[in-house]
Amino acid sequence: MAASARPQRRADAAEKQAGAGLHELGIMFNIVSTVENFARANGVAVIDTLVLQVGELSPVVPQYLHACYPAAVDGTLLQDTQLKIEMVPGNVRCEDCGATYNLLQEQRVCPQCCGQRYAILSGREFLIKEIVAR
Ligand SMILES: [Zn+2]
Repeated sequence: MAASARPQRRADAAEKQAGAGLHELGIMFNIVSTVENFARANGVAVIDTLVLQVGELSPVVPQYLHACYPAAVDGTLLQDTQLKIEMVPGNVRCEDCGATYNLLQEQRVCPQCCGQRYAILSGREFLIKEIVAR
């Protein structure tokens, strides 16, 4: 049986995946400590749900946030808190004709004049939208 190359390759893939989420893990730790501080300052003992808002055009990947969430809340006040992520559409205004459109849906080209110059109206958000206390 000479199948030793395969497990090694799989391990490399796993490492790459973990690396891709490191950015989000750091962000998640920051959010958790921000929420913990807020809860303590306001006498909140149990948080039912944490709602984050993520813009389509922000560099943060929601699935990585979900993936690293359990590790980030382990042993904190948010240990049993549910994570909810709301997406904000990436809307822009065409700088040539003034039309507004969704940047990703239209593949970065204005559907009215085919212009490619735009100003971002929404979609860069990354914020804590809501903390639902029990
Ligand atoms: Zn246009």
